[in-house]
This record gives sequence, C-alpha cells and structure tokens, in this order.
Amino acid sequence: MIPGADEYDVDVAPDDAAVERLLAVDPADVDPAGELTFARNVFVPLTTACRYTCTYCTYYDPPGQATLMSPAEIREVVRTGADAGCTEALFTFGDDPDDRYTEINDQLAEWGHDSIHEYLREACEIALDEGLLPHSNPGDQTREQMATVADVNASMGVMLETTADVQTHGGPRAKSPGQRLHTIRTAGELGVPFTTGILVGIGEDWTDRAESILAIRELHERHGHVQEVIVQPVRENERWQSGTPGRSTLRRAVAMARAGLPEEVSVQVPPNLADAREVLDCGVDDLGGVSPVTDDHINPDYAWPALRELESIAEDGGVPLRERLPVYERYLPPELRRTTVDPAPPPAADRWISGRIERAIDAGDEAGQRYRAVLSGAAAD
Ligand code: SF4
Repeated sequence: MIPGADEYDVDVAPDDAAVERLLAVDPADVDPAGELTFARNVFVPLTTACRYTCTYCTYYDPPGQATLMSPAEIREVVRTGADAGCTEALFTFGDDPDDRYTEINDQLAEWGHDSIHEYLREACEIALDEGLLPHSNPGDQTREQMATVADVNASMGVMLETTADVQTHGGPRAKSPGQRLHTIRTAGELGVPFTTGILVGIGEDWTDRAESILAIRELHERHGHVQEVIVQPVRENERWQSGTPGRSTLRRAVAMARAGLPEEVSVQVPPNLADAREVLDCGVDDLGGVSPVTDDHINPDYAWPALRELESIAEDGGVPLRERLPVYERYLPPELRRTTVDPAPPPAADRWISGRIERAIDAGDEAGQRYRAVLSGAAAD
C-alpha cells in the first residue's frame, strides 16, 4: 500500500509482476530517442514559502525569511522573458504556505487575496498579458485549488518524487506520496496536461522507483494527461550532503522510466542536474527548460550559453534538437498541431487547453506568432 493512499482515497497499486519486470530493465533494453526537445522559459519563483521541510531542499525559506514576488516584479521578469523569445513562465513554489507564514499571508491579504492560489491566478494573468504561457508547479493541490488556476495555465506539474515513505520527507510536516498521487489524479480529472517526475537518491530503493514509475503510468492510462516525466537526481547542497546518484544509477533509472511509461510520455533529464550525455542512449527525449533570461545575456548574433549547451548535447547524441511549448502538441486542438512531429491522437478529455490558452496561441499578436513559430519548427535561435 502506498503511504497516504488511503487518506487521499488514491486507488493506485502497481502489481508485483509489473514491478519485477521493470526491475529487470537495463539501458540496453531501451532505444535512444529520435530527437530531443526543450522549452524556452523564464523562471518565476512566486514564493519561497513552503509548509514542508524536505531535508534535501534549498528552495524553501522558513517563516520570516520567505519571499513573495510582487505583481510588478512578476511583470518585469515575464516581460524580460517574452522580449528574449521565451514562451513559458515557469511559476515555482514551495507547497501551500501554512499559518506559520504570517508575513506571506498578511501580504497576500494586503494585495486582496485569500490564498496563494488566488494570487497565482493574478500572476498567470500577468504572464499571459505579457506574452508567455504559464506552467505552474504549486506543490500539492486540492481540486478546488487547481480549478482556480487551470484555465490560465497551458500545463501544470508536481514531482511525485517517490511512492515510498522516506525519512528525507520526515519531520512534523512530511509530504505524503498519497497526496502527490491525488494531485496528479486531480489534474487528469480536470483535463490539465501535466508534468511529474521521480527524484532519485532521497532514500528510496529500486522497488520504490519501479512502483513510482508504474503509479504515474497507471494514472496516465486512466486520464491521458501526463506529458512528461522528469528523472531527477538529488544533488548535494547546503542542506544535503548525503550524496548524489552515480552514473549507473541514473542510467538504470532513466531506462526504467522509458520502459515503464507509454511511448507518448516524454522522459526528461534536467541537464543542469545530470550529465545528459551519459543518459541519451537510455531513452531521454526532453531536456526541459532553458532560460535565456537567467543567463548572462542576450545577443542577437550568438545563441545563449544554455541553448548552445543543449545543441551540443543533441549533436553528441546525433539527434535533432526541437523547441516545444510548455504544453505538448497532442493537447492542442488539431488545427494548431504540427502533426508530423507529434501525431498521437488526442487523449480522452474533450478539451485539454482552455479557450483562454487556445486564443493566446492562435492570436495575431507578437506572442501568438512566437508560439506558432515554435509549433511550426520555425522558431529562431
Ligand atoms: S515540498 Fe518542495 S519546496 Fe517544499 S521543502 Fe519539499 S522539495 Fe522543498
């Protein structure tokens, strides 16, 4: 039984035989991908408050130190991103700030919001207004919270991390695998294209990794909403000095993800956290987001350093590199898809993206032209 599954009424239970089959997979069993994709994004750390205290995490700040970006700060960052040719505003969070964060909650109230989700909605509106498609990662979400922001996001996400009960999530406010699966299921029920992933090296074992991949698969098979699964190695930092998974561990984990997930679900490795070249033959087909804004500089004559690195990775793998939007093409209405690239039929939901997002992509303004250039493969370096 997955910890927290009962509490959150999550009926996901990978069967033992499937787990055993996945445990037998190694890199030689999977094919390398035929292309690599990436999205051009700008990182918007809306708040560093988080109700949890995962021991490997440097993102969260404790009460009294956590930050909350103002509307003006959000607008400045997303405008800079849009000017630099990005398509995605990546809103990052901790997990729903609790009552200890009095300053954050007071600030939200001063700005006229009862909750961080209400404020996220305003932030997404700012991003759309400035010409970026929001992709929000607000941690675990109730159905009501997700419904508050679903129509102003092109896609959303939360890392499952693991189905195991690990000490690294421990302490008085430990996050629950059951709650994470509940959030992923809610996205499927609401028809939200979704990104999730596993975190490797936080105390889980190989069986836990296999179960985690299969749990994601099970939810995707029900709803068709998982667009990509990140295989992320934990990295040492000021709060975590307990090691980073080695090359062979990451290679096996990536191969298991590729073998355990349906073909249409991308497997992503973040190239800033892992040597992507070492896992290219294990089925990775996406390199996540690259942000020209957070790097040094924008010069029309030169590719951005991060983009150059992605091009170099793809070149080493002998595969083309293709830019994508934060929402995968199969979730777009047929007339907006470049069907030769992503020919999978639309999954079960009647409508995946809201009219609001569809109009933004189809608009005649500069942002709409930028989105459609990405879809057509004509986006400039
Ligand atoms: S829930 Fe996320 S942001 Fe919060 S402490 Fe854990 S890893 Fe960090």
